[in-house]
Amino acid sequence: MTKVDLKDLTLPELTEFVVSLGLKPFRAGQIFAWLYRPGIRTFGQMTDIAKEVRQQLAGVATISHLEVAKEERSADGTVKFGLRLDDNEIIESVLIPEEERHTLCVSSQVGCAMGCGFCLTGTMGFKRNLRPSEIVGQVNAASDWLANQGKPPRLNNLVFMGMGEPLLNFDHLITALKILMEQRGHDFSGRRITISTCGIVPKIKALGEAVPVNLAISLHAADDAIRDQLMPINKTYPLDQLLAACREFPLPPRRRIMMEYILIKDLNDSPEQARKLIKRLHGLRCKINLLPYNENEVFPYQRPPEERMEVFQRILRDAGITTLIRTSRGSDISAACGQLAVQGLDDEDMEGT
Ligand code: SF4
Repeated sequence: MTKVDLKDLTLPELTEFVVSLGLKPFRAGQIFAWLYRPGIRTFGQMTDIAKEVRQQLAGVATISHLEVAKEERSADGTVKFGLRLDDNEIIESVLIPEEERHTLCVSSQVGCAMGCGFCLTGTMGFKRNLRPSEIVGQVNAASDWLANQGKPPRLNNLVFMGMGEPLLNFDHLITALKILMEQRGHDFSGRRITISTCGIVPKIKALGEAVPVNLAISLHAADDAIRDQLMPINKTYPLDQLLAACREFPLPPRRRIMMEYILIKDLNDSPEQARKLIKRLHGLRCKINLLPYNENEVFPYQRPPEERMEVFQRILRDAGITTLIRTSRGSDISAACGQLAVQGLDDEDMEGT
């Protein structure tokens, strides 16, 4: 019999499961709270649960755990984790410390099928979707790591901007978000979670209806010709459709959609493109993050000069759009935007697997 991984279950699903074992429903809340505390790996550690119940659970269920196979620290404090899955695939998540706050950049798939023309993850191709437990497990791994460093094991923000397209792993993503937002567990509010999509139009509204999280769009262009070149998904869901879906996203009051725009020299960084962007975004509650391109050996693109980026920003700001130029964190360890690609896990790292 295949054992059930309890970290794949929302609290209502866990309640159903424990009741099916003949246990009282309140046990589910107790177990759930244990699962998401730092360092919990076994039923034996759940000390307020009767020994017979723990033994019964161990016979039918497991508690998965993602092992840190590789850890790299950037000069700016960013930490990139290579996390080993049950089938020995490796995914990456990135912990970004900002003063007293910690943001974790989370992966949703092993590899990615979207093939965006600036992203190293896309060059890996798609391997598989992550299970809910593998999405939530990244948060557990990061909070365990913080606890081991003697820091409070609390993450402030989660951004789904790691490997993969989250909306193509929709059901597992929603389950994972429900687990992460459960008060007895990590207790994230939807305000502190951002899902970033390259533009899977049919799932955008559905996401907002399922969970009250923030939405980020990898926009990167103001016209279809340039976006087609950068992002193959644009041929299926062009900009008009994408921005119409954004307008239908059930945005909670006082929140805005985040538009991510990687600035690439001589491609999408002209004042004309900035003006096109203003027209496209008219009436949409949004803010724009401008991200200078992280140059690499795989793609031919370059980062624009500072002055050009500032001009682009000023045009948008003058039109009343909140616009920030964000400097990427962790680019020296390939942890910045578009750089996650499971590099550097050599044979030695894989020994014993
Ligand atoms: S940018 Fe996102 S959607 Fe595009 S290839 Fe990279 S991981 Fe996939």
